[in-house]
Amino acid sequence: MDRVMVFDTTLRDGEQSPGASMSVEQKLEVALQLARLGVDVIEAGFPISSPHQLEGCRLVARQVKGPSIAALARAVDKDIECAAEALHGAGHPRIHTFIATSPIHMEHKLRKSPDEVVQMAVKAVRLARNLVAEVEFSPEDGTRSEVPFLCRIIEKVIEAGARIINVPDTVGYMVPSEFADFITAIMRGTPNMDKAVLSIHCHNDLGLAVANSLAAVRAGARQVEVTVNGIGERAGNASLEEFVMALTVRRDLLPFTTGVNTRQIWNTSRLVSSTIGFPIPRNKPITGDNAFAHESGIHQDGVLKKRETYEIMTPESVGRDGSQLVLGRHSGLHGFRNRLTELGIELTEEEAKKSYERFLVIADRKKEVYDDDLYVIVSDQLGRETDTFGLEYFNIISGNMAVPTATVRIKAGSELREEAATGDGPVDAIFNAIDRALGTDTKLLEYVVQAVTPGKQAIGEVSVSLEIDARKFVGRGASTDILEASARAYVNALNRWKAFLSTRKGEGEPNESI
Ligand SMILES: [Zn+2]
Repeated sequence: MDRVMVFDTTLRDGEQSPGASMSVEQKLEVALQLARLGVDVIEAGFPISSPHQLEGCRLVARQVKGPSIAALARAVDKDIECAAEALHGAGHPRIHTFIATSPIHMEHKLRKSPDEVVQMAVKAVRLARNLVAEVEFSPEDGTRSEVPFLCRIIEKVIEAGARIINVPDTVGYMVPSEFADFITAIMRGTPNMDKAVLSIHCHNDLGLAVANSLAAVRAGARQVEVTVNGIGERAGNASLEEFVMALTVRRDLLPFTTGVNTRQIWNTSRLVSSTIGFPIPRNKPITGDNAFAHESGIHQDGVLKKRETYEIMTPESVGRDGSQLVLGRHSGLHGFRNRLTELGIELTEEEAKKSYERFLVIADRKKEVYDDDLYVIVSDQLGRETDTFGLEYFNIISGNMAVPTATVRIKAGSELREEAATGDGPVDAIFNAIDRALGTDTKLLEYVVQAVTPGKQAIGEVSVSLEIDARKFVGRGASTDILEASARAYVNALNRWKAFLSTRKGEGEPNESI
């Protein structure tokens, strides 16, 4: 069977989605799990775009062994040199360079003639090849480019040393049959296509990213660019778990293999969701809570008699075992850490200790702590050392006859600030008190609370979206007390805003990607 390479861009394209930014520690955590999942390539970031991106790439390149580590670069010298520097120390570094090839982008964005674009691409690939062995080239907005021009530029960059040619459906415009024909036309029209691997990169604006990716593989593509949970610009990218499971379940029609260990899918999906604070929709294929739930009595009866009646794949095949190990307040640090390792979470000594302290607080209030709780506890704790603000204390007076009033004490750097405020409800009062203490001005766009596990003592997970300076920041917090979870989520969003300010892009930095 033919092998399809899985190129994961959760840390680059995924992280580009509004509100999905990760700290460098969180990026490393996700990258280690992607290596365990068995992806072939991890795209770690776009190093020239900010010091934070550069640092994230560096850390992943140095510490994650196994997969190739890729860094994105426009087809200009400074981007490529920066990418090479970021990849220093990687076992298999790959520079991924791109330039727009559609008439609309060349004329209005680049203001370059097609000949100039070919020259820039060739020059970029040559420079990249001098710096690393693996070079990938993407014609940005590939699907709106003219096929003869695409074939011409692809032929030239392969001559210059590109070994992977990635055709992106940057705007998510294609339908599957059309995309398959498009890929076939490129393969036929490029005389030296056999010297490179053809890759595709699909966006989900019409909900067709996975379908387009599968169609392209049938037409000859052998690398597919995906993200965990399908996160990414706008409607997102093709989802890794859906693509891989479609190949696994429909091997009869799609005789291709990947290096992915499907039993790691569940863990990876949970880790990414809790890291960036985007909940997984209940009806999400493969990893949603309801993906394997047979609620209808008729189906339940069928599944009990013979699973295959309504089940096309087993929950175990994606690592959803149903057997959750339960921890409690008597569980020691050793047991806690062991379970995290089994769940695919590797922590440093210091991180483990801090997470364990948080675990003890939760375990004290909630007798049984489940695996899903652990993801939330750990991601709630990760990256806190670099936080500007911390919630020290809060108190609420609320009731159906009282004006809700909150008092908070917030650590801001080395200072402690205490303030009180009223609000329409207790949550509003807490948020107002925090704003007053820190002098922040925010607009609450979204507030979601959900229970992580069943039962009255469940951990409540709160996600908030705030608009600050015309930008969106997502924060999340977890606690058995939803008011505390709300306060933690709000402070978390403010920390992300502060982190963004400290690493914001300089002038003239890229505002384009694939
Ligand atoms: Zn993209």
